[in-house]
Amino acid sequence: MWKKFGVVALASMALPVVIALPVVAAESGHRQHDAHVHGVGRADVALDGNRLMLELSIPAHDLVGFEHAPATEQEHKTLEAAVARLRDGLSLFVPNPEAQCSQTQVDVKSALLEADQHDEDHHEAHQDDHHDHDADHGEDEETHADFTLFYRFECRDGKQLKQLRFEIFQDFSGVSRLSVQFIGPAGQQGMKATPQQAVLNLQ
Ligand SMILES: [Zn+2]
Repeated sequence: MWKKFGVVALASMALPVVIALPVVAAESGHRQHDAHVHGVGRADVALDGNRLMLELSIPAHDLVGFEHAPATEQEHKTLEAAVARLRDGLSLFVPNPEAQCSQTQVDVKSALLEADQHDEDHHEAHQDDHHDHDADHGEDEETHADFTLFYRFECRDGKQLKQLRFEIFQDFSGVSRLSVQFIGPAGQQGMKATPQQAVLNLQ
């Protein structure tokens, strides 16, 4: 009985850490807004039971080849195609098939997309309050821009979830390195993912 309670307490204590992860990632993403290095993205990966969550920040240059609001027909098409591709998370970030994961949430964000729609419309309704300080970043000058990607995968058996392969290197050749932080049952670890080393061990 005591043991059981201990596990429950531990699990409920561990949860806020996992929830807090995207917040940390988003804030560090904003801080380095003007200083990102083309070719280099960040990925935060969290495994919590049967749930795998990914949040990535990748320079727009690496995904679409430009970092300004789309101006030409070609740029609109490129942007549209990239977003469609990025929304298919399980084909870019591939768990080993034994875990039988499905994508239950996806969010693809970029200043390029906001510019493509309505400038005033910052649809951040589903975001938390901590994004409010971002409101004064709306200037139109030509600066760096990132894509922020969020995915949630629910897997049939999290214990079978052993590896995550970064297939994104194949689809977006502009992405050459991902600085990965992983939080899982065994704690936190970091790795540099590259096309040559594209597998993150989850166990
Ligand atoms: Zn840039």
